Amino acid sequence: MWAVSWSVKISKLCNLRCRYCYEWNELANPARISFSDWAKILVAARRYHALQMEHFVEPGRTILYWHGGEPLLLPADYFEAVVRLEREIWGGEPLARREFTNFLQTNLYSLTEEKLNLLDREKFEMPAGPGYLFFWGRCPSPAHAEQTKRDL
Ligand code: SF4
Repeated sequence: MWAVSWSVKISKLCNLRCRYCYEWNELANPARISFSDWAKILVAARRYHALQMEHFVEPGRTILYWHGGEPLLLPADYFEAVVRLEREIWGGEPLARREFTNFLQTNLYSLTEEKLNLLDREKFEMPAGPGYLFFWGRCPSPAHAEQTKRDL
């Protein structure tokens, strides 16, 4: 099975300040992707998916990575609006068949019950295990990992 990933930096805003973060100077910036830009991204992803389907015999998958910053700082109604756009642009069937899936990269520090229910309902995928383990896994050395633990 083939897979194409789209990594979308929705907002650089973040509630943490990891020392190794390459977005350091933007972490207080609340700007986020507009819904009209989301529509363009989703149309482009759908077109590219259709092109891939023409070239490969086996089925494939398009994965949309919600990346930041910390995506869970965005309000639940923003998530709801983007998910509605996904259904409009991709149609219900590719979503039901998991040809198109959402993947959330998060530090988990701002996960609310409301958002957890939303992510569960919409079958968002997330890195396994607590967010901090994910962080430590990304640290380039034990010294960086120790520093990250102190930052948290
Ligand atoms: S959680 Fe991610 S975006 Fe936020 S400061 Fe750490 S590395 Fe940067």
